[in-house]
Amino acid sequence: MKKLMSMEKDKLIKTKIIIIFIIILGLYINPTRNKSVAIMKDTKLETNCEIINSGKRGPTLFIISGIHGNEVAGVHALENYNFNLNKGRVIFIQKGSIEAFTQRVRYPYYLQDLNRCFPGVKGGRETERLAYDIFNVIRKYRPNLVLDLHEAEEYGEYSINVANSLIMNNISSDYSLLIKVLEELNNSSLEAEFTFENSSPTGSINKEVSERLGIPVITVETDMKRPLQERINIHNEVIKILLNYYGMEK
Ligand SMILES: [Zn+2]
Repeated sequence: MKKLMSMEKDKLIKTKIIIIFIIILGLYINPTRNKSVAIMKDTKLETNCEIINSGKRGPTLFIISGIHGNEVAGVHALENYNFNLNKGRVIFIQKGSIEAFTQRVRYPYYLQDLNRCFPGVKGGRETERLAYDIFNVIRKYRPNLVLDLHEAEEYGEYSINVANSLIMNNISSDYSLLIKVLEELNNSSLEAEFTFENSSPTGSINKEVSERLGIPVITVETDMKRPLQERINIHNEVIKILLNYYGMEK
């Protein structure tokens, strides 16, 4: 009887080993594991962070849109972009502030301006907690670059009109990257005429991520007076240029 029980036990252990082996083999054969992670889970600001993994080592590009809910072109660009990576990974949050996006406002009256709340506050007000969670995703994955998709109204975010510009805070170390993106964008079939700005406001993802984490951030500001499709195409083109720059797309 004892012998029989021990044989059963052996069988069980063997089965377990085989199952573990199959799982490991599965991961090895199919290393592309795209996943979706919820941030601010079970709150009205819950939003998804998508991780697209090529399965091959390489650079990480982090993209965020919808930090301001009325600046929709970047959100649509990300919605339609068909990532076809040959190495590295893209991590993106399409609807930074889901409440703002649903209402198509910069930010709802009962929340704060998300782009003045970085790096966020743990246990702070809702928008501060959202900023904290987004900032921590960036801190965790340490991307090579953060691409921050916005749109500009005539008297919007800054005291100057930043429409048709790429913003990079303290560009000295990444000047060549910025120039390359500008050149390619302006030489593309889109007939874009972009320029650049080199400062971003306190509390913005651009300033706080670049200064606190040492990760370069490019903010795209399309002109909201232009037709929507034109603006979507520009965001799309910037994503394409950057994936190309890092050799991540075929
Ligand atoms: Zn904005």
